[in-house]
Amino acid sequence: MKSEDSDKKLCDLCVIGSGPVGIIVALEYARLNPEKKILLVEYGYKDQGFENGLDSSIINMNPVNHHSPPECTNKGLGGSTATWGGRCVMYDEVDFIDRPIIKNGCTWDIDLFNEVNNYINTAAGYFECGCANFSLHNIPKFKNKRIVENFAEGVVTDSVLERWSMPTRFGKRYKKEIAACSNLSVIEAFEARDFSPPDANGNISTLLVRNVKDKSVIGIESKFFVLAAGAQETTRILLRNPQLFKLLGNVPDALGKYYQGHLSGKISTVRFEGDPEKTEFGFLRDDDGTYLRRRFQFSTDFLVKSNLLNTAIWLDNPLYYDPGHGSGAMSFIYLAMITPVLGKKLAPPSIAESITKRKINGVRKHVWNVVKDLPGSLLTPAYIFYKRYCLKRKLPGVFLYSADNSYALHFHAEQIPDADNRMVLDADGETLVIHYNLSDEDVNSVIRIHHELDSWLRKFNCGELEYWFKGEELAAAIKLMSKDGIHQSGTTRIADTPDKGVVDKNLKVWGTQTFMYAAVRFFQPQVRPTQPFI
Ligand SMILES: Cc1cc2nc3c(=O)[nH]c(=O)nc-3n(C[C@H](O)[C@H](O)[C@H](O)COP(=O)(O)OP(=O)(O)OC[C@H]3O[C@@H](n4cnc5c(N)ncnc54)[C@H](O)[C@@H]3O)c2cc1C
Repeated sequence: MKSEDSDKKLCDLCVIGSGPVGIIVALEYARLNPEKKILLVEYGYKDQGFENGLDSSIINMNPVNHHSPPECTNKGLGGSTATWGGRCVMYDEVDFIDRPIIKNGCTWDIDLFNEVNNYINTAAGYFECGCANFSLHNIPKFKNKRIVENFAEGVVTDSVLERWSMPTRFGKRYKKEIAACSNLSVIEAFEARDFSPPDANGNISTLLVRNVKDKSVIGIESKFFVLAAGAQETTRILLRNPQLFKLLGNVPDALGKYYQGHLSGKISTVRFEGDPEKTEFGFLRDDDGTYLRRRFQFSTDFLVKSNLLNTAIWLDNPLYYDPGHGSGAMSFIYLAMITPVLGKKLAPPSIAESITKRKINGVRKHVWNVVKDLPGSLLTPAYIFYKRYCLKRKLPGVFLYSADNSYALHFHAEQIPDADNRMVLDADGETLVIHYNLSDEDVNSVIRIHHELDSWLRKFNCGELEYWFKGEELAAAIKLMSKDGIHQSGTTRIADTPDKGVVDKNLKVWGTQTFMYAAVRFFQPQVRPTQPFI
């Protein structure tokens, strides 16, 4: 590809992708270096449709467990924060510990965890999720309370927190700040395409970007580049530019491999003993109004000793689509979500699917639930609608009180890094092919960890689990219900040497001297992402 434009853009730092990573890197760098020129290159543009050229050149090999590409990311200023849910969680210590269950595939060390901790307050500020405190032990008004009567912390904990963002839509939220930065410019509707090869010192000088609308090409000369195009597109850019690894003699073997998401779903109900009024089933509020939520997690020692994957489990509603739950409010919400047009407006497709499971089921019984619970079946959703769509800090989710103290349990589990879960280029050198599967070990860990939670609750006369499937059916059920692709991670992993990873501890791409970061996410739960933020 050749630049048709002779007046190349010159800058000190070129950031590719304006999702949360790109925007934060660009704003922070611009503020700290007022004398430097920064250019933010974004593929998407205002009023872009749901479909786009990048997503339509992806082949998803596993539509059962991986959402379709347009549901997985968003293009345009702010990237995927246009539809993200806003749940912010901190990495756990265990994410940085190598363990047999992950086939000794952890290329991180604990120093990285400690280093990441230095930046979480700044990150939390951008994400507007309050202070970066992720433990209820540090919040006096909650520290002596438990999730349910009789519960005691030990193997299982109930004090690790989710903090919820507004949810902050980074494009809208930071547009003015970006415009106010005189040393920061943005070009939208440009796709990062081809890098010049590194010189003898590993410096990369030029990137060709292509106008998405008229296909014209311009060159960008920059001292440094930051790749912040999201896991999938960052990987595709690196795969399309093997010349970047000229000094290494080969493209790193790990590039595109060890793709991870989460296993996620519901297989059980917990029936608690004790006073239902004392069960903390929903959201808590921090002093500044930030929504917080408890989750069951497991201690580091226990996970390591038991060789189990890091898993969070939270209290949830029963399945919406099954009218057997008998709740008028839930039936009303379900009926609204399956209503054409309206359903699409209420939630992004992947979130809507987690509620409806794409099933149109028992409509008459749902209507009966609504009628018999009137007026609550309308008032509760109306109140939720107001809090979720009309306020600046939105109610992040809907969790309904259970008078009989029983709740569905939602699991969210780490996945084993597996070289066969990978992104590769097709023969045309453009199309990205995504191979993504769940292994038996992934699934067995989910089952075992539920048994452990059950034993722990019984030990303290706290409650017990009731499974929705027979023992021999659990594995197949988990494999069928888990679907990700919105929490992409793992294809440009950090490692101390290029034979194990793609970027070094500072996220500099191996084989280049130019600082070029393949940065992905700030807060993500239970996945050993390959790239913490810089
Ligand atoms: C429906 C949904 C719900 C989610 N909920 C949560 C949640 O609750 N909590 C959580 O932690 N995470 C959640 N996520 C994931 C979260 O949104 C992403 O992890 C996060 O946005 C990744 O940030 P990023 O900056 O790395 O990439 P992105 O946000 O994907 O941004 C990348 C940007 O790069 C641009 N780009 C791509 N290729 C090119 C190119 N070649 N040239 C120029 N620009 C390019 C894209 O257009 C995009 O704007 C959710 C995601 C989705 C889709």
